[in-house]
Formats: sequence, C-alpha cells, structure tokens
Amino acid sequence: MTLLVIAIGGNAILNPTRSSPVEQQRMIDETCREIVQIIQMGHDVVLTHGNGPQVGNLLAMQEECGSVMAQPLDVIGAQTQGMLGYLLQQSLDNRLRESGIKKQVVTVLTQVIVDESCSSFESPTKPIGLYYSEFKARRIMEQGKKMIKNKKGYRRVVPSPLPEKIVEEDIIKNLIRDGAIVIAAGGGGIPVIHRNGLLVGIEAVVDKDLTGSLMASAFGTETFLILTDVEKAALNYGKENQIDLDEITVSEAERYLKEGHFGKGSMEPKVLSAIKFIRSGGKTAIISSLEKAVPALEGGTGTRIVA
Ligand code: ADP
Ligand code: MG
Repeated sequence: MTLLVIAIGGNAILNPTRSSPVEQQRMIDETCREIVQIIQMGHDVVLTHGNGPQVGNLLAMQEECGSVMAQPLDVIGAQTQGMLGYLLQQSLDNRLRESGIKKQVVTVLTQVIVDESCSSFESPTKPIGLYYSEFKARRIMEQGKKMIKNKKGYRRVVPSPLPEKIVEEDIIKNLIRDGAIVIAAGGGGIPVIHRNGLLVGIEAVVDKDLTGSLMASAFGTETFLILTDVEKAALNYGKENQIDLDEITVSEAERYLKEGHFGKGSMEPKVLSAIKFIRSGGKTAIISSLEKAVPALEGGTGTRIVA
C-alpha cells in the first residue's frame, strides 16, 4: 500500500447554488466511485476537498436572515467540513461496500495553524461568497467587513494566510496506520492561531491545495494528487497558442508561475502547492481532472511536477 494525498476541487464535487440535494448526491457518488478506483489500485488515501460554494451559501443565508447571529469564518469552515465530510464519508463507505473492500472511512474535523505574520491579514485579497449590489455591499461594509468591486459587483474579501501546521497531524497519522481512509482539512482546514499557548479560531480561509500539500509532506507521501476540472495545467491558457503541460520540473514550474501562466486563485495555488510539495522532499505532484484520476496516476495524462 502506498499513501496518497488527494485534493479535490469544491466545484468539481458539487455546486449547491445550482444543484438539488439529489444532484449533489449523484455528484458526490461519482466522485467517490473515482476514489474507490484509486483505492483499488493499491493506495491508501487521505482526501481533502474545497468548500468555496458551500461557504458562499452559508454566508448568503446569514446575510438574508438578519435575525440570526452571524457566525465567524472559522465556525463556517467547521460547518462545511462536517457537511461535506458526512456526504463523502457515507458515499465512500457505500461505494467501498459495493466493491467488496473492507475499509473504514473517517472524517477528522481539522484545524490548521496559519502564519500570523502573513501580509494577507493587512490587505485581504481572497474573495468569498456571493456578488452584491452597491446598496447591499454598503450595509455589509458597515459591519466592518471588507469588500472589493469588480465587473460582476461587490464581493467580500478575507485574509488567506499560509497554512503552517495541521493541529490533528498525529491522530491522522494513527488513523492512516490503522488502515482508515481519512477525509481531513476540508476547505483547507479551520484557520487557528496560538494565543498564550491556546488555540483560537480566526476570520480567514485557507487554500485547500496548500493545506493538501502540507499534509502530503507531513505524512511523507510520494505522490500528491490535485483533482480539478481540467485535465492538464497549460501555458497561454485559453489562448490560441495554448500548450498543455505533461511533465515539468519544479524549476520550470517556478518560471512559468513567475511568467503569470496560471490563473490567480485557481491554477496558481495548485502549481504553488505542487512546487512546495516537491521542494519539501515529495517525488511527484500531479494536477488533473477527477474523471482522469486513474490514467493520470498511471502516467497516461495530467500534468506531473517532478524534482
Ligand atoms: P478547484 O475548485 O478545483 O480548486 P479552480 O476553479 O480553483 O478549481 O481551478 C481550476 C481552474 O483553473 C480551471 O477550471 C481553469 O479554468 C483555471 N485555470 C487558470 N489558469 C490555468 C492554466 N494555466 N491551465 C489550466 N487551467 C487554468
Ligand atoms: Mg480553487
């Protein structure tokens, strides 16, 4: 058995603003069928997932319902870990049963210690939630929240500090050793900091690919797999001269990153996470789509980042 850390995109698993609970279940089941195929290849799996659309929904519910006390972002992060963890855990369990594989699945409510000195605390840039009209945006800004304006309207921005350490690292290692399939650090983990030797949650979000990379390094896995909705990362993405990338070295990846080939907040954090993983001793990072996960692991497709 070789251990594999897999990060799956929030949009690739479900989009609650558009899909009914039935549709959500169908997408979750499809995702879990892919994961089971990976397990059948002989991998132990630690799974992490995005939560962008789910956080957006909870924030929208809070904005719409003035009589309910708004929850801070760490609590919202915990809520989405529970919700998505439940759906994935149950579906994975069912798909494993169907395949006759005896393995236990567990979701760990995961906190992640973030870098307090991160510049993103002074100047938050990570957009979250829905787009608002100027009228509504003003009301939200009166509550002391920061918003930015672009073509589509106003959107809340929050700090997205770098993840430094998984609080539940040791217990997750024990669960892996016991042969469990672990779902951990959903949504990038619940952001926390140390205050007088104690943990406290903070208003921030953490990039799930960066936390996935941190877990892959901490658990000593050879391969870190990032599954999203494109088969390969590309240069000149979306242009006539687009070049899909097969295998690149970290140095090449760093150069392409500097040249601005990868979308901010989308492909850029994935490539950065892959670089960090290789720089801290990992062997291969793979970026591909959920549907191509198995061929990508076999080396048939996807973008591979190697030393
Ligand atoms: P996830 O929810 O999986 O994190 P994102 O939407 O954040 O997904 O990132 C994946 C998206 O990145 C793709 O759908 C694609 O539109 C975009 N993207 C930006 N730059 C590139 C690039 N250079 N190569 C491939 N995809 C890119
Ligand atoms: Mg993303």
